[in-house]
Amino acid sequence: MQYVKGLRCVKCNYLNEPSILYQCIKCSSSLDVEYYYEELFENVQSFHSSGNGIWKYRNLLPVKNDIEPVTLGEGNTPFLKSSSLGKISGVDQAYLKVESVNPTLSFKDRPLSVALTVSKQFGIEKVTTASTGNTGVAAAAYSARAGTPCKIYVPKRTPKEKLRMMEIYGAEIQLIDGNFSDAYKIAGEAAIENNWFNLTSTFLNPYAIEGDKTLAYELYEQYGEVPDWIIIPIGAGPLLVSCYKGFKELMCAGKVDKLPKMAGVQAENCSPIVRAFDFQISEVEPWFENGKTIASGIADPLTSYPNDGTRTLHTIRESGGVAIAVNEEKIKYYQMLLSKEEGIFVEPASITAVAAMESMKDRDLLEKQQSVVSVVTGHGVKDLDAISS
Ligand SMILES: *Cc1c(COP(=O)(O)O)cnc(C)c1O
Ligand SMILES: [Zn+2]
Repeated sequence: MQYVKGLRCVKCNYLNEPSILYQCIKCSSSLDVEYYYEELFENVQSFHSSGNGIWKYRNLLPVKNDIEPVTLGEGNTPFLKSSSLGKISGVDQAYLKVESVNPTLSFKDRPLSVALTVSKQFGIEKVTTASTGNTGVAAAAYSARAGTPCKIYVPKRTPKEKLRMMEIYGAEIQLIDGNFSDAYKIAGEAAIENNWFNLTSTFLNPYAIEGDKTLAYELYEQYGEVPDWIIIPIGAGPLLVSCYKGFKELMCAGKVDKLPKMAGVQAENCSPIVRAFDFQISEVEPWFENGKTIASGIADPLTSYPNDGTRTLHTIRESGGVAIAVNEEKIKYYQMLLSKEEGIFVEPASITAVAAMESMKDRDLLEKQQSVVSVVTGHGVKDLDAISS
């Protein structure tokens, strides 16, 4: 936090005060934490501090030095070379970044560890979130760890394992008769009415998503350079956008001299960002069709906040990347393949990052000498019904 300059508006560029704020005070667009980079990188050593996992990078997180992090040991996840992925993609260097082994079994532990630590810093009394499941589970566990009450709004169709976990960690749960966007709206209203800190994993909370960029720092350190492609499953897309930001910061620090191409993947049945990419339109439109998919973790129709999707679309284009949709058949097929051939069992939303390789290869986007990383975001054991169906 000593290095935080403010909250930069992604649209009008206004620098907002680094307070509890979800949108620009001038134009209501989403915000991005900006640091005093020059000062920060003058001491390149400061990229690392003495913490573990994501907290090794605490100088680049919006947290003051004297605050103890709310941590469960998140981050520092496996980076594995995969011969099956090599076969699917046709590239020599295909890797998996296995986020499913985080403390609550998804990458959401990165942003939620940061969010609860920031809550402590701001003296927050209660937190809330809307969730497709994994954010809720992580919010429940990290708020238990922080001793902060937590209320979670989730669609009724959320996998039962995820609901049980939230309950076991002691969170208050409200089931919403609708999709994630409906839950988002209700959580947002409740947060404002009751003065709760809203941790919802869209671009709403600028502090929480800072946790996501630690993925980039780890990839760089584990691989030793910048991979050509990084494939990430996207709902609204903060993981993809923040990961790219992390690489830009590495460049700003003079550690790398190129940036990766970002591939964002959605389930075909709910793919507003892919549709905008394919039709080459500049703004994402909400998905009003039936968005039913077994990839519940990324089923976000972006109703009422399509601009979040637009922010992700812009990042994908800026990186020279691609947005890819995969169908339900492929999701099921590759979920089994990764389990049986690599011993890695991930949930349907996560496997889209593997399934996408097939279409990327078909579209001639991959070359043999390139390096590709698929980020598998959440564990399969959190949604067993997806297998039996
Ligand atoms: C949340 C989630 C995503 C998508 O992340 P966003 O940053 O919200 O786009 C992908 N996979 C899984 C398993 C998730 O829980
Ligand atoms: Zn603005």
